[in-house]
Amino acid sequence: MEGIELEQAVELLLTKAKVPQETEEVPLTSALGRTLAEDVRADFDNPPFDRSPLDGYALIAADTVDATRENPARLRLVGEECAGDFFAGTVNPGEALCIMTGGAMPQGTDAVIRQEDVTVTNGLLEVPYPLKHHENYCLAGEDIKQGTLLIRQGEVLDAPRIGVLASQGHAKVKVCRRPRLALGGTGDELLQPGEPLAPGKIYNSNLYLLAARLQELGAETKILGIIPDDPQGAADQLRRCLDRADLLLTTGGVSVGKKDIMHEVIKLLPAQRLFWGVQMKPGYPLLAYEAAGTLGLALSGNPFAAYTTFELLARPLIDKLSGRTPRPFPRLKAALKNDFPKASPGRRFIRACCDIATGTVSIPSQHSSGSLFSAIGCNALINLPAGTGKLAAGDRVEVLLL
Ligand code: AMP
Ligand code: MG
Repeated sequence: MEGIELEQAVELLLTKAKVPQETEEVPLTSALGRTLAEDVRADFDNPPFDRSPLDGYALIAADTVDATRENPARLRLVGEECAGDFFAGTVNPGEALCIMTGGAMPQGTDAVIRQEDVTVTNGLLEVPYPLKHHENYCLAGEDIKQGTLLIRQGEVLDAPRIGVLASQGHAKVKVCRRPRLALGGTGDELLQPGEPLAPGKIYNSNLYLLAARLQELGAETKILGIIPDDPQGAADQLRRCLDRADLLLTTGGVSVGKKDIMHEVIKLLPAQRLFWGVQMKPGYPLLAYEAAGTLGLALSGNPFAAYTTFELLARPLIDKLSGRTPRPFPRLKAALKNDFPKASPGRRFIRACCDIATGTVSIPSQHSSGSLFSAIGCNALINLPAGTGKLAAGDRVEVLLL
C-alpha cells in the first residue's frame, strides 16, 4: 500500500489547521459543548459565607464541654434563621440560634447540633453531648477559594463546568466560535431522501451520517447536498464556500475510477494537494487539500469508509478548529468474541461492539465498507496493524472507543 500513514496524515492536518480566533458570548444555557475562550478564575469564595450543613442549632462549642444526656447544656434560643435569611445579631455565650441548612452562621457561633439530637422546652435548648469547634460547620470557600483557576481556555464546557460558572454568578460565557464546515456528497447516483427511488440510484446517506456527527461535535455545517460528477460545477460550488468555511468536507469521487472527479476538482479550485491515500482500510482513497487557507477533505464515498475516516481524521481536525486539544480515542486490548478469517496485509479498522466490562469485542458479520446498517450499535473500531494474519475468537486486539 502506498499513501501516507494515518498518524502522519492527522499530524499534517493539525499543523495546517487555522484555528478561528473569533469568540462570542453565549448564555450559560447555550454553552454546553462549547470551548471556553479564556481562563476563568473565582471572583469570590464559594460558599460566600460560613454556613450550616444541616437543620439544627448554631451554638458556641465551648458552652457544651460538660454536656451529657443526664446533665445537658441549656442554651437560650435567640431566634431563627432559614437559608436566605441573614441574622444580623451576635450569639453570645449561653445562647443558640435555630438554623436551617444553608443558613449563614451567625456571629459568635462555631458549631451546629442536629435538630434530631436536642429538646427544646420553654425557649431553652438542651444539648446532650459536647460539640467540637467547627463541628457540623461549613466554611466559606469550602468549595471554591477566591482566585482559584476554575476552567482553562480550551476546556470543553460540560454540565459540571457550567454549574461552576453559574455558582460564580456568570450569566454568560466567552466561547470560541464554532468551526464552519461545508458538507457535500459527490455522485450522479445520489438522490436526496424524500425523492422517489429510481433505477441505478441510491440515497445520499453519507451526508446525513456526517451532518449528524458534525452536529454532535458542535460544528456549524453548511449542507451542499448532492454535488454532481462534474468537476467544473463541483469546483465552482466548493470555491463559493471558501470565504466562510474552515473545512470543506465531501465524500465520493476520490478513487481511481472514471467519475472520480475530486482530483480534477482540486486543480480547478485551485487547491494544493496535501496528500492522497491513507494507509488503512477502509477509506484508503482520501484526498486532503488546501485552497486559499481553507482545508479540504475528500473522503471515500463508501459509507463506512467515510464514517471511519471521518472519525480518525476529520474529528481531531474539528476539535482543533473548535479551539480545543483533540481528544485521543480511549484504547484498550480486548478479546475477540468471534473469528475474523481475513488476513490484513495492510492496516485495517473494523467496526465492532466492545463490552468494556468483560474486555471482549465482537465484529458484526457484515462489515464491508459499503454497508452501514451493522454500524448501528457499534461503539468501537478494532485497529489491526499491517501484517496481521487471520484471527480467531479469543485473540486479543487493540480497540479504539468511538
Ligand atoms: P465513490 O467513492 O464515489 O467511488 O463511491 C464509492 C461507493 O460509495 C459507491 O458505491 C457509491 O455509490 C457509494 N456512495 C458514494 N457517495 C455516497 C453517499 N453520499 N451516500 C451513500 N453512498 C455513497
Ligand atoms: Mg462517485
